[in-house]
Amino acid sequence: MSAPNAAGWRPSLGAANDSAAPSPTASGDRGLMLEEALIFELGQPGKCGVDLDEPELEPLPALGRHLRRQACPLPGLTEPETVRHYTRLSRQNYAIDLGPFPLGSCTMKHNPRLNEKVARLPGFADVHPLQPQQTVRGALEVIAQLADWLIALTGMHGVAMTPKAGAHGELCGLLCIRAAHDARGEAREVMLVPDSAHGTNPATAAFAGYRVESIAATAEGRIDVAALLARLGPDVAGVMITNPNTCGLFERDIKEIADAVHAAGGYVYCDGANFNAIVGKVRPGDLGVDAMHINLHKTFSTPHGGGGPGSGPVVLSEALAPFAPLPFTMRTAEGVTHLVEEEDAAAIVPGESFGSRSFGRMTAFHGQMGMFTRALTYILSHGADGLRQVAEDAVLNANYVLRRVEDVLVAPFAASGPCMHEALFSDAGLPEGFTTLDIAKGLIDEGFHPMTVYFPLVVRGAMLVEPTETESRAGLDRFIASLRSLAERAGRSDESLKSAPHLAPRRRLDETQAARKPVLVWREPASAAD
Ligand SMILES: *Cc1c(COP(=O)(O)O)cnc(C)c1O
Repeated sequence: MSAPNAAGWRPSLGAANDSAAPSPTASGDRGLMLEEALIFELGQPGKCGVDLDEPELEPLPALGRHLRRQACPLPGLTEPETVRHYTRLSRQNYAIDLGPFPLGSCTMKHNPRLNEKVARLPGFADVHPLQPQQTVRGALEVIAQLADWLIALTGMHGVAMTPKAGAHGELCGLLCIRAAHDARGEAREVMLVPDSAHGTNPATAAFAGYRVESIAATAEGRIDVAALLARLGPDVAGVMITNPNTCGLFERDIKEIADAVHAAGGYVYCDGANFNAIVGKVRPGDLGVDAMHINLHKTFSTPHGGGGPGSGPVVLSEALAPFAPLPFTMRTAEGVTHLVEEEDAAAIVPGESFGSRSFGRMTAFHGQMGMFTRALTYILSHGADGLRQVAEDAVLNANYVLRRVEDVLVAPFAASGPCMHEALFSDAGLPEGFTTLDIAKGLIDEGFHPMTVYFPLVVRGAMLVEPTETESRAGLDRFIASLRSLAERAGRSDESLKSAPHLAPRRRLDETQAARKPVLVWREPASAAD
Protein backbone atom coordinates (compact mmCIF):
# COMPACT_ATOMS: atom_id res chain seq x y z
CA MET A 1 0.00 0.00 0.00
CA SER A 2 1.19 3.46 -0.77
CA ALA A 3 1.25 6.57 1.37
CA PRO A 4 -1.39 9.19 0.61
CA ASN A 5 -0.73 10.89 -2.70
CA ALA A 6 -0.76 14.63 -3.11
CA ALA A 7 -4.55 14.78 -3.13
CA GLY A 8 -4.79 12.75 0.06
CA TRP A 9 -6.26 9.64 -1.57
CA ARG A 10 -5.09 6.15 -0.85
CA PRO A 11 -5.87 2.77 -2.34
CA SER A 12 -8.77 1.55 -0.26
CA LEU A 13 -8.93 -0.87 2.62
CA GLY A 14 -11.96 -2.46 1.02
CA ALA A 15 -10.30 -3.10 -2.32
CA ALA A 16 -7.12 -4.41 -0.75
CA ASN A 17 -9.04 -6.81 1.46
CA ASP A 18 -11.23 -8.16 -1.26
CA SER A 19 -9.37 -11.13 -2.68
CA ALA A 20 -12.14 -11.63 -5.23
CA ALA A 21 -11.68 -8.15 -6.73
CA PRO A 22 -9.91 -7.79 -10.08
CA SER A 23 -6.52 -6.05 -10.00
CA PRO A 24 -6.90 -2.96 -7.85
CA THR A 25 -7.29 0.44 -9.44
CA ALA A 26 -4.65 3.12 -8.95
CA SER A 27 -7.20 5.42 -7.31
CA GLY A 28 -8.58 2.83 -4.93
CA ASP A 29 -12.04 3.61 -6.29
CA ARG A 30 -14.00 0.90 -8.05
CA GLY A 31 -16.21 2.31 -10.73
CA LEU A 32 -18.68 4.57 -9.00
CA MET A 33 -17.87 3.10 -5.58
CA LEU A 34 -15.69 5.92 -4.34
CA GLU A 35 -13.22 5.42 -1.51
CA GLU A 36 -12.63 8.02 1.12
CA ALA A 37 -9.88 8.64 3.66
CA LEU A 38 -10.81 10.03 7.06
CA ILE A 39 -11.47 13.76 7.02
CA PHE A 40 -8.56 14.31 9.43
CA GLU A 41 -6.23 12.68 6.92
CA LEU A 42 -7.61 14.66 4.01
CA GLY A 43 -7.28 17.99 5.79
CA GLN A 44 -4.20 20.17 5.50
CA PRO A 45 -3.21 22.96 7.86
CA GLY A 46 -4.01 26.40 6.52
CA LYS A 47 -6.81 25.32 4.17
CA CYS A 48 -10.18 26.79 4.90
CA GLY A 49 -13.60 26.86 3.29
CA VAL A 50 -14.51 30.36 4.45
CA ASP A 51 -12.86 33.77 4.49
CA LEU A 52 -12.52 34.68 8.18
CA ASP A 53 -11.35 37.98 9.60
CA GLU A 54 -7.92 38.09 11.27
CA PRO A 55 -8.51 37.39 14.97
CA GLU A 56 -7.92 40.02 17.66
CA LEU A 57 -4.38 39.26 18.82
CA GLU A 58 -4.48 41.19 22.09
CA PRO A 59 -5.59 38.58 24.71
CA LEU A 60 -7.88 39.74 27.46
CA PRO A 61 -5.81 39.35 30.66
CA ALA A 62 -8.72 37.90 32.65
CA LEU A 63 -9.24 35.21 30.02
CA GLY A 64 -5.53 34.45 29.66
CA ARG A 65 -5.59 31.09 31.35
CA HIS A 66 -8.52 29.93 29.19
CA LEU A 67 -6.79 30.66 25.92
CA ARG A 68 -5.83 27.70 23.71
CA ARG A 69 -2.09 26.96 23.76
CA GLN A 70 -2.04 24.72 20.75
CA ALA A 71 -3.63 24.98 17.34
CA CYS A 72 -7.11 23.47 17.28
CA PRO A 73 -6.79 20.09 15.48
CA LEU A 74 -9.63 20.72 13.04
CA PRO A 75 -9.12 19.39 9.52
CA GLY A 76 -8.48 22.13 6.97
CA LEU A 77 -10.49 21.62 3.77
CA THR A 78 -11.83 23.79 1.02
CA GLU A 79 -15.56 23.96 0.51
CA PRO A 80 -15.62 21.59 -2.52
CA GLU A 81 -13.46 19.08 -0.63
CA THR A 82 -15.85 19.19 2.31
CA VAL A 83 -18.92 18.76 0.12
CA ARG A 84 -17.32 15.85 -1.76
CA HIS A 85 -16.23 14.18 1.46
CA TYR A 86 -19.73 14.02 2.88
CA THR A 87 -21.36 13.25 -0.45
CA ARG A 88 -18.98 10.32 -0.98
CA LEU A 89 -19.72 9.04 2.52
CA SER A 90 -23.46 9.42 1.97
CA ARG A 91 -23.17 7.10 -1.06
CA GLN A 92 -21.95 4.32 1.20
CA ASN A 93 -25.12 4.67 3.22
CA TYR A 94 -28.41 2.90 2.66
CA ALA A 95 -31.62 4.85 2.88
CA ILE A 96 -35.35 4.34 2.48
CA ASP A 97 -35.11 6.54 -0.61
CA LEU A 98 -32.74 3.97 -2.22
CA GLY A 99 -34.67 0.78 -1.63
CA PRO A 100 -36.71 -1.32 0.81
CA PHE A 101 -35.75 -1.08 4.46
CA PRO A 102 -37.15 -4.33 5.85
CA LEU A 103 -36.29 -3.66 9.51
CA GLY A 104 -39.00 -5.18 11.69
CA SER A 105 -40.23 -3.47 14.86
CA CYS A 106 -39.27 -0.16 13.30
CA THR A 107 -41.59 0.71 10.41
CA MET A 108 -39.24 2.35 7.93
CA LYS A 109 -41.78 3.62 5.45
CA HIS A 110 -41.50 6.15 2.67
CA ASN A 111 -41.99 9.75 3.86
CA PRO A 112 -44.14 11.45 1.20
CA ARG A 113 -42.55 14.62 -0.19
CA LEU A 114 -45.80 16.48 0.38
CA ASN A 115 -45.02 16.23 4.13
CA GLU A 116 -41.75 18.04 3.56
CA LYS A 117 -43.33 20.72 1.41
CA VAL A 118 -45.89 21.55 4.09
CA ALA A 119 -43.42 21.38 6.99
CA ARG A 120 -41.21 23.90 5.17
CA LEU A 121 -43.94 26.53 4.79
CA PRO A 122 -42.52 29.57 6.60
CA GLY A 123 -45.60 29.85 8.85
CA PHE A 124 -44.69 26.45 10.31
CA ALA A 125 -40.92 26.30 9.82
CA ASP A 126 -40.07 29.74 11.21
CA VAL A 127 -42.17 29.87 14.39
CA HIS A 128 -40.43 29.93 17.76
CA PRO A 129 -41.78 28.13 20.84
CA LEU A 130 -41.54 31.32 22.92
CA GLN A 131 -43.69 33.40 20.53
CA PRO A 132 -46.89 34.82 22.07
CA GLN A 133 -49.82 32.48 21.51
CA GLN A 134 -51.81 34.94 19.44
CA THR A 135 -49.00 34.93 16.84
CA VAL A 136 -49.00 31.13 16.39
CA ARG A 137 -52.70 30.29 16.20
CA GLY A 138 -52.14 28.22 13.05
CA ALA A 139 -49.45 26.09 14.65
CA LEU A 140 -51.67 25.49 17.70
CA GLU A 141 -54.50 24.52 15.36
CA VAL A 142 -52.20 21.92 13.73
CA ILE A 143 -51.56 20.39 17.16
CA ALA A 144 -55.26 20.43 18.05
CA GLN A 145 -56.40 18.93 14.74
CA LEU A 146 -53.78 16.20 14.90
CA ALA A 147 -54.91 15.48 18.47
CA ASP A 148 -58.53 15.19 17.23
CA TRP A 149 -57.46 12.65 14.60
CA LEU A 150 -55.43 10.58 17.07
CA ILE A 151 -58.37 10.50 19.50
CA ALA A 152 -60.81 9.51 16.73
CA LEU A 153 -58.50 6.80 15.35
CA THR A 154 -57.88 5.26 18.77
CA GLY A 155 -61.28 5.75 20.40
CA MET A 156 -59.58 7.19 23.48
CA HIS A 157 -60.53 10.12 25.73
CA GLY A 158 -57.60 12.51 25.24
CA VAL A 159 -54.03 12.72 24.02
CA ALA A 160 -50.80 14.08 25.50
CA MET A 161 -48.94 15.52 22.51
CA THR A 162 -45.61 16.49 24.08
CA PRO A 163 -43.63 13.19 24.38
CA LYS A 164 -40.80 13.14 21.89
CA ALA A 165 -40.46 9.45 21.04
CA GLY A 166 -42.09 6.10 21.66
CA ALA A 167 -40.06 5.36 24.77
CA HIS A 168 -40.72 8.89 26.05
CA GLY A 169 -44.42 8.24 25.55
CA GLU A 170 -44.15 5.01 27.56
CA LEU A 171 -42.66 7.05 30.40
CA CYS A 172 -45.49 9.57 30.12
CA GLY A 173 -48.09 6.79 30.27
CA LEU A 174 -46.49 5.17 33.30
CA LEU A 175 -46.24 8.52 35.09
CA CYS A 176 -49.99 8.94 34.52
CA ILE A 177 -50.58 5.46 35.95
CA ARG A 178 -48.43 6.25 38.97
CA ALA A 179 -50.25 9.57 39.50
CA ALA A 180 -53.61 7.79 39.33
CA HIS A 181 -52.55 5.28 41.98
CA ASP A 182 -51.05 8.05 44.13
CA ALA A 183 -54.37 9.91 43.92
CA ARG A 184 -56.09 6.81 45.31
CA GLY A 185 -53.44 6.52 48.02
CA GLU A 186 -52.19 3.23 46.64
CA ALA A 187 -48.50 2.33 46.39
CA ARG A 188 -48.29 -0.40 43.76
CA GLU A 189 -44.77 -1.53 42.87
CA VAL A 190 -45.00 -4.14 40.13
CA MET A 191 -45.36 -3.68 36.37
CA LEU A 192 -46.07 -6.86 34.42
CA VAL A 193 -44.37 -7.06 31.02
CA PRO A 194 -44.99 -10.07 28.78
CA ASP A 195 -42.05 -11.59 26.87
CA SER A 196 -43.84 -10.63 23.65
CA ALA A 197 -43.49 -6.90 24.50
CA HIS A 198 -40.87 -4.57 23.04
CA GLY A 199 -37.57 -4.14 24.92
CA THR A 200 -38.22 -0.49 25.74
CA ASN A 201 -41.20 -1.55 27.90
CA PRO A 202 -39.28 -3.21 30.77
CA ALA A 203 -36.63 -0.48 30.53
CA THR A 204 -39.26 2.26 30.89
CA ALA A 205 -41.01 0.48 33.76
CA ALA A 206 -37.70 0.16 35.63
CA PHE A 207 -36.86 3.81 34.90
CA ALA A 208 -40.27 4.85 36.27
CA GLY A 209 -39.42 3.02 39.50
CA TYR A 210 -41.49 -0.14 39.05
CA ARG A 211 -40.28 -3.67 39.71
CA VAL A 212 -40.58 -5.49 36.40
CA GLU A 213 -41.96 -9.02 36.31
CA SER A 214 -42.13 -10.82 33.00
CA ILE A 215 -44.95 -13.04 31.80
CA ALA A 216 -44.12 -15.95 29.50
CA ALA A 217 -45.21 -16.26 25.89
CA THR A 218 -47.08 -19.32 24.64
CA ALA A 219 -45.74 -21.59 21.90
CA GLU A 220 -48.10 -19.65 19.64
CA GLY A 221 -46.12 -16.42 20.24
CA ARG A 222 -48.81 -14.69 22.32
CA ILE A 223 -49.20 -13.75 26.01
CA ASP A 224 -49.81 -16.68 28.37
CA VAL A 225 -53.14 -15.33 29.63
CA ALA A 226 -53.52 -17.81 32.48
CA ALA A 227 -50.06 -16.91 33.82
CA LEU A 228 -50.86 -13.20 33.62
CA LEU A 229 -54.25 -13.48 35.33
CA ALA A 230 -52.72 -15.62 38.08
CA ARG A 231 -50.19 -12.88 38.87
CA LEU A 232 -52.68 -10.01 39.28
CA GLY A 233 -53.03 -8.61 42.79
CA PRO A 234 -52.93 -5.48 44.95
CA ASP A 235 -49.18 -4.94 44.30
CA VAL A 236 -49.60 -4.84 40.50
CA ALA A 237 -49.79 -1.31 39.08
CA GLY A 238 -50.45 -2.45 35.55
CA VAL A 239 -49.38 -4.38 32.49
CA MET A 240 -47.55 -3.22 29.36
CA ILE A 241 -48.74 -5.01 26.25
CA THR A 242 -47.29 -4.51 22.80
CA ASN A 243 -50.14 -5.02 20.34
CA PRO A 244 -49.57 -6.17 17.65
CA ASN A 245 -46.72 -7.82 19.53
CA THR A 246 -43.06 -8.18 18.61
CA CYS A 247 -43.70 -11.60 17.06
CA GLY A 248 -45.90 -9.75 14.55
CA LEU A 249 -49.09 -11.25 16.04
CA PHE A 250 -52.27 -9.62 17.32
CA GLU A 251 -52.83 -10.23 21.04
CA ARG A 252 -56.37 -11.53 20.67
CA ASP A 253 -56.98 -11.82 24.41
CA ILE A 254 -56.26 -8.18 25.19
CA LYS A 255 -59.90 -7.35 26.13
CA GLU A 256 -60.10 -10.26 28.57
CA ILE A 257 -56.72 -9.23 30.02
CA ALA A 258 -57.77 -5.57 30.31
CA ASP A 259 -61.01 -6.42 32.12
CA ALA A 260 -59.13 -8.57 34.63
CA VAL A 261 -56.41 -5.92 35.17
CA HIS A 262 -59.06 -3.25 35.79
CA ALA A 263 -60.93 -5.51 38.20
CA ALA A 264 -57.66 -5.91 40.12
CA GLY A 265 -57.18 -2.12 40.30
CA GLY A 266 -54.44 -1.90 37.66
CA TYR A 267 -54.11 -0.09 34.33
CA VAL A 268 -53.30 -1.31 30.84
CA TYR A 269 -50.46 0.35 28.95
CA CYS A 270 -50.38 -0.57 25.28
CA ASP A 271 -47.22 -0.08 23.23
CA GLY A 272 -48.74 1.31 20.05
CA ALA A 273 -45.61 1.46 17.92
CA ASN A 274 -47.19 -1.17 15.68
CA PHE A 275 -50.43 0.79 15.26
CA ASN A 276 -49.81 0.95 11.51
CA ALA A 277 -51.01 -2.67 11.32
CA ILE A 278 -54.45 -1.86 12.75
CA VAL A 279 -55.03 1.86 12.14
CA GLY A 280 -58.56 2.41 10.82
CA LYS A 281 -59.48 -1.20 11.65
CA VAL A 282 -59.32 -1.46 15.47
CA ARG A 283 -59.68 1.23 18.15
CA PRO A 284 -57.50 0.52 21.21
CA GLY A 285 -60.08 2.37 23.33
CA ASP A 286 -62.53 -0.45 22.58
CA LEU A 287 -60.01 -3.00 23.86
CA GLY A 288 -59.76 -1.55 27.38
CA VAL A 289 -56.44 0.24 26.89
CA ASP A 290 -55.73 3.10 29.37
CA ALA A 291 -52.63 4.61 27.74
CA MET A 292 -50.89 4.04 24.43
CA HIS A 293 -48.13 5.89 22.66
CA ILE A 294 -48.28 6.40 18.93
CA ASN A 295 -44.98 6.68 17.07
CA LEU A 296 -45.81 9.40 14.55
CA HIS A 297 -42.46 8.57 12.92
CA LYS A 298 -43.63 5.03 12.24
CA THR A 299 -47.40 4.90 11.74
CA PHE A 300 -47.81 8.34 10.16
CA SER A 301 -44.57 8.47 8.11
CA THR A 302 -42.31 11.48 8.95
CA PRO A 303 -38.55 10.92 8.59
CA HIS A 304 -37.01 8.26 10.76
CA GLY A 305 -33.73 7.15 12.20
CA GLY A 306 -30.93 9.42 11.04
CA GLY A 307 -33.49 11.45 9.12
CA GLY A 308 -35.23 13.23 11.93
CA PRO A 309 -36.55 13.32 15.48
CA GLY A 310 -39.33 11.09 16.71
CA SER A 311 -42.64 12.02 18.24
CA GLY A 312 -44.68 9.86 20.60
CA PRO A 313 -48.09 11.31 21.57
CA VAL A 314 -49.89 9.27 24.24
CA VAL A 315 -53.64 8.65 24.03
CA LEU A 316 -55.30 8.28 27.43
CA SER A 317 -58.49 6.73 28.80
CA GLU A 318 -60.99 8.74 30.84
CA ALA A 319 -59.42 7.34 34.02
CA LEU A 320 -55.92 8.58 33.21
CA ALA A 321 -56.69 11.75 31.23
CA PRO A 322 -56.82 14.09 34.29
CA PHE A 323 -53.15 13.31 35.00
CA ALA A 324 -51.88 14.23 31.51
CA PRO A 325 -48.77 16.41 31.27
CA LEU A 326 -48.72 20.14 30.58
CA PRO A 327 -48.81 22.01 28.30
CA PHE A 328 -51.72 20.95 26.07
CA THR A 329 -54.12 22.54 23.63
CA MET A 330 -57.72 23.28 24.53
CA ARG A 331 -60.48 24.90 22.47
CA THR A 332 -62.33 27.78 24.07
CA ALA A 333 -66.12 28.03 23.81
CA GLU A 334 -65.58 30.33 20.81
CA GLY A 335 -63.52 27.59 19.10
CA VAL A 336 -60.14 29.29 19.54
CA THR A 337 -57.29 26.88 20.25
CA HIS A 338 -55.40 27.83 23.38
CA LEU A 339 -52.21 26.39 24.86
CA VAL A 340 -52.74 25.57 28.54
CA GLU A 341 -49.66 26.11 30.73
CA GLU A 342 -49.18 25.72 34.49
CA GLU A 343 -50.24 29.28 35.33
CA ASP A 344 -53.67 29.03 33.68
CA ALA A 345 -54.45 25.32 34.16
CA ALA A 346 -56.16 25.72 37.54
CA ALA A 347 -58.32 28.57 36.28
CA ILE A 348 -59.56 27.15 32.99
CA VAL A 349 -59.45 23.34 33.18
CA PRO A 350 -62.66 22.07 34.73
CA GLY A 351 -62.92 19.38 37.42
CA GLU A 352 -61.87 15.90 36.37
CA SER A 353 -61.18 16.75 32.72
CA PHE A 354 -58.00 16.31 30.70
CA GLY A 355 -54.92 17.63 32.52
CA SER A 356 -56.86 18.92 35.56
CA ARG A 357 -54.53 17.00 37.95
CA SER A 358 -51.44 16.99 35.72
CA PHE A 359 -48.38 15.10 36.98
CA GLY A 360 -46.14 17.83 35.51
CA ARG A 361 -44.18 18.29 32.29
CA MET A 362 -42.44 15.92 29.88
CA THR A 363 -40.78 18.61 27.78
CA ALA A 364 -39.78 22.26 27.88
CA PHE A 365 -42.20 23.19 25.10
CA HIS A 366 -45.17 21.61 23.35
CA GLY A 367 -43.60 18.75 21.36
CA GLN A 368 -42.09 18.10 17.93
CA MET A 369 -43.83 20.70 15.79
CA GLY A 370 -42.18 19.53 12.56
CA MET A 371 -43.37 15.98 13.15
CA PHE A 372 -46.89 17.17 13.95
CA THR A 373 -47.07 19.07 10.68
CA ARG A 374 -45.83 16.07 8.70
CA ALA A 375 -48.11 13.58 10.46
CA LEU A 376 -51.21 15.76 9.97
CA THR A 377 -50.28 16.22 6.30
CA TYR A 378 -49.99 12.44 5.95
CA ILE A 379 -53.32 11.85 7.69
CA LEU A 380 -55.21 14.51 5.71
CA SER A 381 -53.75 13.42 2.37
CA HIS A 382 -54.70 9.78 3.04
CA GLY A 383 -58.09 10.39 4.65
CA ALA A 384 -59.89 7.83 6.79
CA ASP A 385 -60.21 5.37 3.90
CA GLY A 386 -56.55 5.75 2.96
CA LEU A 387 -55.40 5.09 6.51
CA ARG A 388 -57.45 1.91 6.61
CA GLN A 389 -55.77 0.85 3.38
CA VAL A 390 -52.36 1.56 4.95
CA ALA A 391 -53.08 -1.10 7.58
CA GLU A 392 -54.52 -3.55 5.06
CA ASP A 393 -51.60 -3.23 2.64
CA ALA A 394 -48.98 -3.42 5.39
CA VAL A 395 -50.51 -6.66 6.67
CA LEU A 396 -50.99 -8.05 3.15
CA ASN A 397 -47.35 -7.35 2.24
CA ALA A 398 -46.03 -9.02 5.41
CA ASN A 399 -48.18 -12.11 4.85
CA TYR A 400 -47.01 -12.25 1.23
CA VAL A 401 -43.38 -12.37 2.41
CA LEU A 402 -44.22 -14.92 5.13
CA ARG A 403 -45.96 -17.34 2.77
CA ARG A 404 -43.43 -16.94 -0.05
CA VAL A 405 -40.41 -17.67 2.19
CA GLU A 406 -41.71 -20.12 4.83
CA ASP A 407 -40.68 -23.17 2.77
CA VAL A 408 -36.98 -22.16 2.80
CA LEU A 409 -36.67 -20.43 6.21
CA VAL A 410 -38.31 -21.69 9.41
CA ALA A 411 -41.25 -19.42 10.35
CA PRO A 412 -41.88 -20.34 14.00
CA PHE A 413 -45.37 -18.87 14.23
CA ALA A 414 -46.55 -19.63 10.72
CA ALA A 415 -49.24 -21.87 12.20
CA SER A 416 -50.51 -19.14 14.58
CA GLY A 417 -52.65 -17.64 11.81
CA PRO A 418 -51.94 -14.66 9.56
CA CYS A 419 -49.22 -12.31 10.78
CA MET A 420 -49.82 -8.61 11.17
CA HIS A 421 -47.36 -6.08 9.69
CA GLU A 422 -44.18 -8.16 10.07
CA ALA A 423 -43.05 -11.67 9.19
CA LEU A 424 -40.84 -13.58 11.62
CA PHE A 425 -38.28 -16.22 10.61
CA SER A 426 -35.62 -18.18 12.48
CA ASP A 427 -32.27 -19.74 11.57
CA ALA A 428 -33.31 -23.00 13.28
CA GLY A 429 -33.54 -24.84 9.95
CA LEU A 430 -30.13 -23.80 8.54
CA PRO A 431 -27.24 -26.29 8.45
CA GLU A 432 -24.79 -26.33 11.35
CA GLY A 433 -22.53 -23.27 11.23
CA PHE A 434 -24.92 -21.05 9.23
CA THR A 435 -26.72 -18.32 11.10
CA THR A 436 -29.03 -15.35 10.84
CA LEU A 437 -25.97 -13.11 10.56
CA ASP A 438 -24.94 -14.82 7.28
CA ILE A 439 -28.38 -14.19 5.76
CA ALA A 440 -28.32 -10.54 6.92
CA LYS A 441 -24.83 -9.91 5.53
CA GLY A 442 -25.76 -11.68 2.29
CA LEU A 443 -28.66 -9.24 1.87
CA ILE A 444 -26.13 -6.39 1.75
CA ASP A 445 -24.48 -7.97 -1.31
CA GLU A 446 -27.96 -8.32 -2.82
CA GLY A 447 -28.45 -4.55 -2.44
CA PHE A 448 -30.91 -4.63 0.45
CA HIS A 449 -30.71 -3.33 3.98
CA PRO A 450 -30.85 -6.35 6.32
CA MET A 451 -33.96 -7.11 8.34
CA THR A 452 -34.00 -6.84 12.15
CA VAL A 453 -31.87 -9.70 13.51
CA TYR A 454 -31.80 -11.58 16.82
CA PHE A 455 -34.97 -9.82 17.99
CA PRO A 456 -37.45 -10.74 19.42
CA LEU A 457 -35.44 -12.74 21.95
CA VAL A 458 -38.14 -15.39 22.31
CA VAL A 459 -37.12 -16.82 18.91
CA ARG A 460 -33.75 -18.41 18.13
CA GLY A 461 -31.78 -16.45 15.53
CA ALA A 462 -34.81 -14.27 14.82
CA MET A 463 -35.19 -12.46 11.48
CA LEU A 464 -38.00 -9.91 11.63
CA VAL A 465 -39.10 -8.52 8.26
CA GLU A 466 -41.46 -5.53 7.97
CA PRO A 467 -42.01 -4.61 4.32
CA THR A 468 -44.55 -1.79 5.10
CA GLU A 469 -47.36 -0.78 2.78
CA THR A 470 -45.11 1.42 0.68
CA GLU A 471 -43.45 -1.51 -1.18
CA SER A 472 -44.95 -2.67 -4.47
CA ARG A 473 -45.58 -6.28 -5.42
CA ALA A 474 -42.67 -6.14 -7.88
CA GLY A 475 -40.35 -4.73 -5.22
CA LEU A 476 -41.39 -7.43 -2.78
CA ASP A 477 -40.79 -10.11 -5.43
CA ARG A 478 -37.20 -8.88 -5.89
CA PHE A 479 -36.59 -8.92 -2.12
CA ILE A 480 -38.18 -12.37 -1.77
CA ALA A 481 -36.04 -13.74 -4.62
CA SER A 482 -32.89 -12.53 -2.84
CA LEU A 483 -33.97 -13.86 0.55
CA ARG A 484 -34.88 -17.23 -0.95
CA SER A 485 -31.58 -17.41 -2.82
CA LEU A 486 -29.63 -16.70 0.39
CA ALA A 487 -31.63 -19.29 2.37
CA GLU A 488 -30.96 -21.84 -0.37
CA ARG A 489 -27.24 -21.00 -0.48
CA ALA A 490 -27.06 -21.50 3.30
CA GLY A 491 -29.10 -24.68 2.89
CA ARG A 492 -26.49 -26.19 0.58
CA SER A 493 -23.69 -24.98 2.91
CA ASP A 494 -22.26 -22.40 0.49
CA GLU A 495 -19.20 -21.39 2.53
CA SER A 496 -18.81 -18.04 0.74
CA LEU A 497 -21.93 -16.83 2.54
CA LYS A 498 -20.06 -16.99 5.84
CA SER A 499 -17.79 -14.12 4.78
CA ALA A 500 -20.43 -11.95 3.09
CA PRO A 501 -20.66 -9.11 2.27
CA HIS A 502 -18.18 -9.37 -0.63
CA LEU A 503 -19.43 -6.49 -2.75
CA ALA A 504 -19.94 -3.75 -0.14
CA PRO A 505 -17.42 -0.96 0.59
CA ARG A 506 -16.29 -2.94 3.67
CA ARG A 507 -16.10 -6.67 4.28
CA ARG A 508 -17.52 -8.41 7.36
CA LEU A 509 -16.16 -6.86 10.53
CA ASP A 510 -15.51 -8.52 13.84
CA GLU A 511 -18.54 -6.79 15.33
CA THR A 512 -17.42 -7.14 18.94
CA GLN A 513 -14.04 -5.63 18.18
CA ALA A 514 -15.60 -2.95 16.01
CA ALA A 515 -17.93 -1.93 18.84
CA ARG A 516 -15.42 -2.15 21.68
CA LYS A 517 -12.24 -1.00 19.94
CA PRO A 518 -13.28 1.09 16.98
CA VAL A 519 -10.35 2.01 14.71
CA LEU A 520 -10.79 5.72 14.21
CA VAL A 521 -7.50 6.36 12.45
CA TRP A 522 -6.55 5.01 9.07
CA ARG A 523 -3.90 2.31 9.38
CA GLU A 524 -1.70 0.75 6.77
CA PRO A 525 -2.91 -2.87 6.35
CA ALA A 526 -0.30 -5.43 7.55
CA SER A 527 0.10 -6.84 4.07
CA ALA A 528 -1.14 -5.28 0.88
CA ALA A 529 -1.44 -8.73 -0.68
CA ASP A 530 -3.96 -10.32 1.69
C1 LIG B 1 -39.82 1.75 18.02
C2 LIG B 1 -40.53 1.08 19.10
C3 LIG B 1 -40.52 1.59 20.41
C4 LIG B 1 -39.70 2.79 20.82
O1 LIG B 1 -40.01 3.94 20.10
P1 LIG B 1 -38.91 5.11 19.93
O2 LIG B 1 -39.62 6.17 19.18
O3 LIG B 1 -37.76 4.49 19.20
O4 LIG B 1 -38.52 5.52 21.33
C5 LIG B 1 -41.27 0.94 21.37
N1 LIG B 1 -41.96 -0.17 21.07
C6 LIG B 1 -41.99 -0.70 19.83
C7 LIG B 1 -42.80 -1.94 19.55
C8 LIG B 1 -41.26 -0.10 18.81
O5 LIG B 1 -41.29 -0.63 17.58
